Amino acid sequence: MQRRQFLRNAGATLAVASTAGLVACARQPLAPTSKAGTLVSPPIAGTPGMVELAPIRAQTDRITGVYVCTRPFRAAGPRIETQRLGEKTIVHNYGHGGSGWSLSWGSSMLALRMAQDTGVHKLGVIGCGALGLTSALLAQRAGMSVCIYAKALPPDVYSMRASGLWTPDSRICDAQHAPDFGARWETMARTSYGMYQTLLGLPGRPIEWIDGYSLSDTPFNQPQPPEVSDEPDYGEFRDRVRDLTPRTIDMPAGSHPFHQPYVHRYTTMMFNISTYARMLMTDFLTAGGKIEVREFDHPHELLKLPERTLINATGYGARALFNDNSIIPVRGQTARLIPQPEVTYGISSEHISMVPRSDGLLVQAFGDTGNFNNSDVTPNRAVSEAAVLQLASLVSRTRKS
Ligand SMILES: Cc1cc2nc3c(=O)[nH]c(=O)nc-3n(C[C@H](O)[C@H](O)[C@H](O)COP(=O)(O)OP(=O)(O)OC[C@H]3O[C@@H](n4cnc5c(N)ncnc54)[C@H](O)[C@@H]3O)c2cc1C
Repeated sequence: MQRRQFLRNAGATLAVASTAGLVACARQPLAPTSKAGTLVSPPIAGTPGMVELAPIRAQTDRITGVYVCTRPFRAAGPRIETQRLGEKTIVHNYGHGGSGWSLSWGSSMLALRMAQDTGVHKLGVIGCGALGLTSALLAQRAGMSVCIYAKALPPDVYSMRASGLWTPDSRICDAQHAPDFGARWETMARTSYGMYQTLLGLPGRPIEWIDGYSLSDTPFNQPQPPEVSDEPDYGEFRDRVRDLTPRTIDMPAGSHPFHQPYVHRYTTMMFNISTYARMLMTDFLTAGGKIEVREFDHPHELLKLPERTLINATGYGARALFNDNSIIPVRGQTARLIPQPEVTYGISSEHISMVPRSDGLLVQAFGDTGNFNNSDVTPNRAVSEAAVLQLASLVSRTRKS
């Protein structure tokens, strides 16, 4: 999410909650930790009308890892189409920008239909990220026998480095191409959303709904100075599926523990990617799927595979493999803090976000430049440390007991 998107999402307040409503939605915190270094003390327990939130331990020495990957962005949107290659049919399913997990099931459903049109019962899937796994599983469920070929498997694929939120229109196409892509995007978003609802409440909580708080020093609807950005204007489609997600709620002073004057509560889907990817892999293998670790340097190498139809879900890798320079790498970096199971809410501001994943609190900086068309995946720890310190500062003045 960028600053612009933060403001857009946070500004989408459609309802004002009564204090009673807020209390009803508040989660029960676990007993607050009292260990040294806790930067946020618990809010006043029992303050009438106050939502109670477990303290976040935002400290740089709690960073367990800094992860970088490139979003496979295409100005026209993802490439989902067939191509003949000798006697094979290749169904491309790549180029999902910052929305790969969110759109995966819907996009892979479109790719599967194209594969089914070739009449085969054996399918090869190239790639084992979000798009490869969902393509393979959908094909199995449609009765196909499937082999995944990939140079790397989870956890060593870029998909594992995503934030893990329902962000179906994040860097998915540029504004110019949005009118052509909108209807297809909506189909993909609705299909994916429906599939995700069937994955709730499972052991390890691969998918869950969470609340989060947008914090701001200025009113969300106040005109902002133009954003300094070296990225294009992206297509925005969220209004097309506004009915799928709960409305953002304006939190009046006194109903939340934050010191910022403007606070919204949002409710969103979160993917606990470690558990979720493991579940997808296990489901695929349990249903008889095969996996072969293999790297392809040229499309002609695909001709040697036994399957006549292949789904190409190589993500950013398609740029080199299919010489597709329409894929632009958009670099992104996250840091993970030691998991805090008691922190069940997210935070976002103009400058940072925190996602409360089960494998660690994920912290990301917004608004930095130099990421567009940048394929450098070297982590910059200083940037992540600065983001963690910003998070610490955001929550440090949270009301104390
Ligand atoms: C910082 C960041 C945060 C993000 N947050 C979110 C989010 O919150 N929600 C969301 O929906 N999306 C998010 N995304 C976007 C999401 O991560 C991507 O859209 C998604 O991971 C793309 O998945 P993929 O399966 O196409 O590619 P990948 O995960 O890269 O998988 C590609 C697969 O193909 C294989 N492969 C590649 N080339 C070859 C080759 N030549 N031969 C053999 N195998 C090959 C790879 O080994 C791998 O198995 C985020 C991205 C970034 C960078």
